[in-house]
Amino acid sequence: DEGTPKAKVYNIATDTTFAPFEFQNDAGEYVGIDIEILAAIAEDQGFEYKLNPLGFSAAVAALESNQTDAVIAGMSITEERQKKYDFSEAYYDSGVVMAISATNDTITSYDDLKGKKVAVKTGTEGATFAESIKDQYGFQVVYFDESPFMYEDVKTGNSVACFEDYPVMGYGITQGNGLKMVTDMEKGSSYGFAVLKGKNTELLEMFDAGLKNIRDNGKYQEILDKYIAAE
Ligand code: GLN
Repeated sequence: DEGTPKAKVYNIATDTTFAPFEFQNDAGEYVGIDIEILAAIAEDQGFEYKLNPLGFSAAVAALESNQTDAVIAGMSITEERQKKYDFSEAYYDSGVVMAISATNDTITSYDDLKGKKVAVKTGTEGATFAESIKDQYGFQVVYFDESPFMYEDVKTGNSVACFEDYPVMGYGITQGNGLKMVTDMEKGSSYGFAVLKGKNTELLEMFDAGLKNIRDNGKYQEILDKYIAAE
């Protein structure tokens, strides 16, 4: 009937494969911590959305060009990004770590990367970290759009190492991705839900309000426990 505005359906972009935050289950459905906290928050706050798994750098590009309303993709709240985007409260702590093939016994520190190739994922905090030390340690950076492609490059031996978020690499190793970690985690930024600066303010406010509610009612912890084994 006239006069009743149609409820807005927000378009929310995410990564394609970034377990345990977003990935497809055997039935091809998107699952993971980001996917489930978003669903729980939307239910709590009563908003509708359509999930759009674009890949990380494509999701951020879509946000920047106003083609999507928000991004949830294990996206680190960095100072640089805060100039362009507004972030929710942090919902998960992260950091960047180097990983090498599980069968490699020659790389034990960044010094061993000299003259070698190192795989990173375009536009990520891991890529920025690798770029910041590549001249000092004398390695070459090669770029991939998806995490599984960079792991593959390390396993085939084209790259000797990759840089990935610690919680994602830790999870992947427990799932048998064929890699291992030999260095400590570098301090990194926590994850947040992002909108374009000054846009979709009501969505950001609902996200924060819902995040607080699902933290208070135990739903947030229940979701984490489902994906990450207690230490
Ligand atoms: N946390 C990293 C970043 O924001 C990587 C995110 C991702 O690959 N989905 O840059």
